[in-house]
Amino acid sequence: MTDIRPPLDIAALLKQHAGRNYELHAAHVNPANVKTLRTIGFDRCYVRAEGPYLWDVEGTKYLDLLSGYGVFSLGRNHPDVRKVLADFLNAEYPSLVKMEAPLLSGLLAEELKKRMPNQLDMVFFTNSGTEGVETAIKYAKCATGKPVILHCQKAFHGLTYGALSLNGDESFREGFGPFMPDCVKIPFNDLEALEKELRKGNVAGFVVEPVQGKGVNLPSPGYLRDAAALCRKHGALFIDDEVQAGMGRTGKFLAIEHDGDVDPDIVVLSKALSGGFVPVGAVLCKKWIHDKVFSSMSRSVVHSATFSQGNFAMAAGLAALDVIDRYGLIKNAEVMGNRIGEAVKAMIPRYEFLKEVRWRGLMMGIEFGSPKSLTLKAAWTMIHGMDKSLFPQVAIMPLLDKHHIITQVAGHQVDVVKLLPPLVITEDDAQWFLKSFEDVLAQMHKFPGPAWDVLSDIGRMVVTNRAR
Ligand code: PMP
Repeated sequence: MTDIRPPLDIAALLKQHAGRNYELHAAHVNPANVKTLRTIGFDRCYVRAEGPYLWDVEGTKYLDLLSGYGVFSLGRNHPDVRKVLADFLNAEYPSLVKMEAPLLSGLLAEELKKRMPNQLDMVFFTNSGTEGVETAIKYAKCATGKPVILHCQKAFHGLTYGALSLNGDESFREGFGPFMPDCVKIPFNDLEALEKELRKGNVAGFVVEPVQGKGVNLPSPGYLRDAAALCRKHGALFIDDEVQAGMGRTGKFLAIEHDGDVDPDIVVLSKALSGGFVPVGAVLCKKWIHDKVFSSMSRSVVHSATFSQGNFAMAAGLAALDVIDRYGLIKNAEVMGNRIGEAVKAMIPRYEFLKEVRWRGLMMGIEFGSPKSLTLKAAWTMIHGMDKSLFPQVAIMPLLDKHHIITQVAGHQVDVVKLLPPLVITEDDAQWFLKSFEDVLAQMHKFPGPAWDVLSDIGRMVVTNRAR
């Protein structure tokens, strides 16, 4: 019998429960995360989003320089992608028939291949970045018949078991071992260490981020190009994880292109590929690799996933690429990245805590360092004594609370504030950030002072919690 109640009204539901976010999450989803967000004052309820902006339930406007960990490169709710998706839903087009070859994934594969710097022939579609990395690991082992996967210190490739086995940060791994065997960690930017491992002759692939997301570490010039050449020389695959840095974020479609003439065997994309509307990713590889994996009709779906090539995701992907091209977002990423990066760099001589700013387009890390003057050094030592990941909060918290700008720490035990702005930001947005950041820096350099009171309270809380 049909239920006679009216269908779910999502707008009414959102209105009815507005503001209940943290209560619901504390009860049903992740209480520890709720506690963290409350502690640092990030327990806001966002109810509207457009471009690089968010609005909370009280109507306050925020500048989002985090972009959902880099997903919203086009900004949020881009009207052109929304139109494509609305048209697509209205077309009542079939999706995931499975025993067919869908048109849209073929078209998206063609579009992605056009944007690669080298000849990559075949495309596998995933639902996330980590699934793309799993795909690359499987391809590398299958294509080379070798066991070892190399990865870098401080690497982040996702949190499923294969990808977690390549994670260069113990804090993500603690409690989850044992991991996939035959994974070897080497320092980033170290060709000698790479070749030493490759010479052993048992390496299937080297997985590397062209800009490391954790800490925002940039490769030395020529490192990625030479690493790829070394892999080729020793019969290992060079796997370029562009999940975060790819799709135009660094001022080129792939971040690896900054190294000139590069020739990766496998490229992994995700995050920004659908404009943030649908989880999706893509793994591009050379034909010989694909031929080894899918070597016969009986192996034609030996690697697959139920939701792979869903047409809604594929339509969003095509729309996102179209927006990136038509609005010149890759160029804007380069221009705005340089604009913000140079301006922050110019602040370094004026503020003792500012050590360095590293950026490639709109992927940026602002690093703090130990100051010279004794009073400020006392603040540095006190905070680091309490917790090694706490210091950047002295900037991140007032950036949100006073200036309504969302940023994040670039990982565990780093003194780096990370910016991953939407690629659509304008000069006005850059000014909003630069003025706010300079104000925050000025407050930080008054010790003792109110900027430090909140942080030392949090530090004490962290220490007390740890003691429990
Ligand atoms: N690779 C890189 C470089 C990433 O930055 C991330 C996510 N931050 C991943 C892989 C994993 O992606 P996902 O969270 O979609 O699984």
